Amino acid sequence: MTITSCERFTDISYELRGPVTERAARLKGEGHHIFHLHSGNPAAYGFEPPDEIVQEIARNLSRSHGYSDAQGILPARQAVVRHYERRGFGGLGVEDVYLGNGVSELIMMALQAMLNDGDEVLIPTPDYPLWSSAVALCGGTPVHYLCDENRGWCPDLPDMESKISPATRAVVVINPNNPTGAVYPRELLAEMSDLARRHRLVVLADEIYEQIRFDGAEHVPIAPLAPDVPSLTFSGLSKAYRVCGYRSGWMVLHGAKHRARSYIEALGTLADMRLCPNLPGQHAVPAALEGPQSVRDLVLPGGRLHLQRDRAWELLNAIPGVSCVKPKGALYLFPRLDPHTHRIDDDQELAFELLENQHVLVVPGSGFNWPAPDHLRITALPRLEELEPAIGRLADLLSDRAGGRCAPHLP
Ligand code: PLP
Repeated sequence: MTITSCERFTDISYELRGPVTERAARLKGEGHHIFHLHSGNPAAYGFEPPDEIVQEIARNLSRSHGYSDAQGILPARQAVVRHYERRGFGGLGVEDVYLGNGVSELIMMALQAMLNDGDEVLIPTPDYPLWSSAVALCGGTPVHYLCDENRGWCPDLPDMESKISPATRAVVVINPNNPTGAVYPRELLAEMSDLARRHRLVVLADEIYEQIRFDGAEHVPIAPLAPDVPSLTFSGLSKAYRVCGYRSGWMVLHGAKHRARSYIEALGTLADMRLCPNLPGQHAVPAALEGPQSVRDLVLPGGRLHLQRDRAWELLNAIPGVSCVKPKGALYLFPRLDPHTHRIDDDQELAFELLENQHVLVVPGSGFNWPAPDHLRITALPRLEELEPAIGRLADLLSDRAGGRCAPHLP
């Protein structure tokens, strides 16, 4: 008797934890030092969680062993409502807030409740690949719209509109963006919500990096720009609050709720079916959202994230044939390897080569459903002592591959 995976898995790939990462773990097990430029887990790079969050969880731990309300405990949902009221959302109630085991679980729930087989969902390319995999697993078809590197990786609206078909149900907007670091301007977001209105699409707004922005970039939540368009906004504690291991996130339903009755019922059933989200993580929500916001010290000039983002960006752009749009937010850089200088047929092979020869772990751009083998994603989380030699090793590998034609000129 064999067990085979269901047919839906045929098209699912999730490179963020794929074969390159497995090989890196084996090399590490053999005693090699690996330069980790691949992960979005702040704890793995020595980022400490805010004290008030840890204290609040510890204070509540002895009362956190039971199931909670399936949508999440009231004080946490009230804190989420207050957070979004401050951000311009109108008419929100605690019933519109669903707490979850990270945004990841809520993405699955939101799509499971929405999609029929063959329904299409517009997803950016490059994407955060969970979105494409989750759509496919829920029976839908991910349809990728282009984000334009030449315009700071902003979504290309004509391309997006050209991909809409009678089967399109929703559009995913990831802002600030993983992997590109783009933070979208208000006017562009307004045009996107207008497009959603005209084509009767649901907006799925993944705003988990909302507080991680540099150089004064403003984050505009998309939902309040079109209160008549149904939307779900996703965020949580994994990134700005550096506690991804507590698995604490939320989604908020907004706009035209009278047109979402059966959907709301389905979401309620799914919330009931998973009984409840992790309870200790829920206790952290009010402490996080209404605490000191220490993330600001990390992203301002002189802050650790700001310094690392700047240095990584400088070093990448100093490699001949490599160019990188400066990230305005989130935790990553998405450099381009010019195909005339660096002839790469398969970026997954390049990632393997970088690991084997230089012990540097990155995610190939194709892992983000980017259609050409000419990008890599690099995280800005490592300390400078790791980041600098790691990017130096990338430069060495690229130079070797190009027959020494492109030795780096590091600043
Ligand atoms: N959305 C984006 C864009 C992400 O980058 C991530 C994690 O890296 C997630 C969602 C998942 O976050 P969580 O830890 O809340 O599940």
